[in-house]
Amino acid sequence: MRLSKHFIPTVKENPKEAEIVSHRLMLRSGMIRQSSAGIYIWLPTGLRVLNKIANIVREEQNRAGAIELLMPTIQPAELWQESGRYDAYGKEMLRITDRHERDMLFGPTNEEMITDLFKNNVKSYKDLPLNMYHIQWKFRDEVRPRFGIMRGREFLMKDNYSFDLDFEGAKESYNKMYVAYLRTFARLGLVAIPVKADSGAIGGDMSHEFQILAETGESTLHYDKAIEDFDLSSLTGDIDDETVAKLQSYYAMEEEKHDADNCPVADSDLKTAKGIEVGHIFYFGTKYSESMGATVAGPDGKEVNVEMGSYGIGVSRLVGALIEANHDDNGIIWPEAVAPYKVGLINLRFKDENCTAACDALYNKLEAAGIEVLYDDRDAGAGAKFADMDLIGVPWQVVVGPKGLEKGVIELKNRRTGERVELTEEELLEKLG
Ligand code: ATP
Ligand code: MG
Repeated sequence: MRLSKHFIPTVKENPKEAEIVSHRLMLRSGMIRQSSAGIYIWLPTGLRVLNKIANIVREEQNRAGAIELLMPTIQPAELWQESGRYDAYGKEMLRITDRHERDMLFGPTNEEMITDLFKNNVKSYKDLPLNMYHIQWKFRDEVRPRFGIMRGREFLMKDNYSFDLDFEGAKESYNKMYVAYLRTFARLGLVAIPVKADSGAIGGDMSHEFQILAETGESTLHYDKAIEDFDLSSLTGDIDDETVAKLQSYYAMEEEKHDADNCPVADSDLKTAKGIEVGHIFYFGTKYSESMGATVAGPDGKEVNVEMGSYGIGVSRLVGALIEANHDDNGIIWPEAVAPYKVGLINLRFKDENCTAACDALYNKLEAAGIEVLYDDRDAGAGAKFADMDLIGVPWQVVVGPKGLEKGVIELKNRRTGERVELTEEELLEKLG
């Protein structure tokens, strides 16, 4: 894509309203603009990153056997009255009345809707286990939306729901998601610590939050330092039951639930850090299947309330979390897997016909090779071009100027390491291809 024809409104100054680095850089690099408090427009490069993250999440859900569907954002109030959550949810729920005076709402989550779908369409234990997900916008009228898209009011979430005949099945579904989450975050290059979370009235230990360590995180965590010896970023391969059991046995707890006097970990082994919650998995048994009457006929013909779990990943929050983990003073440093473009092509001398012709030709070759290129073909100075490309955070910068062309070389810069090498065109295409 040519920058001259793109829409990437970068900003030099730090926006006053942005308190944390990811918010600042998303505004400055032209990824988002606020529409109203906690509600954002996703500009072209922001959307590209969001879609790439969503696709990695999707691939790992599919791999784990979950099936994608798409439920609406607007839900009827009746479903929530059935489950008893309509009143309980309080002011975080955006309530809407349609022209026929029907009570509707903008979905903050989808347990009710999927339980209703299930009960109307699944009748037998033979159809279990079943695990369905969607990636859809949610609305929660947060008291204090802040940090840009990190705590928005409208945000993109992957949420899925598992249905099983019994506890053993539900536990298996839960662990499959546990593994899928570890793999998803590892593929994004993030170290996400599974933290035991509140499983509400049901008790037990089948609720985990996945927390990315970052100084700007809103949660405070206490965890066994042994978790750090566990190389969470190697977890993109197959993960066996033993690994899951081992990880689940480590102590990691949020501040509110941590009891220093009764903590099983010695003080010297306990670490404290701030975390950003990027995912949450939760087993809740028959809570919704009972209140909403979701049963299947079991093997003996008797009706059984299905066992359920729900699992969420904050897809839009991940964009911010990734920037918190990948930036320097000059801007964002995207991991290749989620970068809006893999390569930034910089034309140093727009007014030099030879240089521009060489750049155009190289751009066409890179595109033809299927490489995602952002081509800075603007009539602007080299300094401004370097600054913008660093800010946007494209992993590889290809710099074409008259001097190099005379020598028959092109400069390639690695955004993360800053390392520069001079390559022939052939070597360059080989390296980036
Ligand atoms: P939090 O404690 O941060 O409010 P939550 O416990 O309300 O999160 P869940 O209901 O478990 O969140 O939602 C699943 C995931 O959705 C969370 O792990 C988080 O990544 C994301 N999420 C929740 N609320 C927001 C929000 N306001 N903005 C962006 N992402 C959010
Ligand atoms: Mg919340």
